[in-house]
Amino acid sequence: MDTWKNYICPVCGAWSCTKDRFPTCEFCQNEDVIIIEDEKLHNEIQAYLKSLTRSDFEKYLVLPSYGEIGKDYTELYVATVEYIRQKYVFDDPRFSKTKFNEREHQECARHQEYKTHKKEEIAALREEVYGEPNPYRKVTCPTCGSTNTEKISALSKGVSVGLFGIFSQKVKHQFHCNSCGYEW
Ligand SMILES: [Zn+2]
Ligand SMILES: [Zn+2]
Repeated sequence: MDTWKNYICPVCGAWSCTKDRFPTCEFCQNEDVIIIEDEKLHNEIQAYLKSLTRSDFEKYLVLPSYGEIGKDYTELYVATVEYIRQKYVFDDPRFSKTKFNEREHQECARHQEYKTHKKEEIAALREEVYGEPNPYRKVTCPTCGSTNTEKISALSKGVSVGLFGIFSQKVKHQFHCNSCGYEW
């Protein structure tokens, strides 16, 4: 039976999960990760954290270099990961500050990508349902295939009319290609 396993990497501090039979670190490829079963995690660690006074609990609220507590992560989640890292990572002789930082940067990039992706999905939906302009829409140039295109704004259409009169081609066109200059 396939079950998800949580693991902590003692080299780079990755806290992740996998279904692999032989779990390895997805960030630094360390082959000796520490499996932490969910039950142990929830019952022991979280119960311990909840029993702490507020000021002791806050010592575990170490912000990742990305995301926000209360918005992207709950306090208990952040504290749990920090607790696990203090226990299994920072004192391990294999711990590498360089790999820890590298992983944090990678996770930050992933996080940003995810957020952008979410915004794109919402914008696409609003465009479809309400007909709102979608700043993320990628339109491919029919001439050169570039996606570096933009919608010709009403303002620049107005300028065209003013400069070249009512017969300006631009009025009819909706898109402009920044790569080859084609308009359609
Ligand atoms: Zn690692
Ligand atoms: Zn083009």
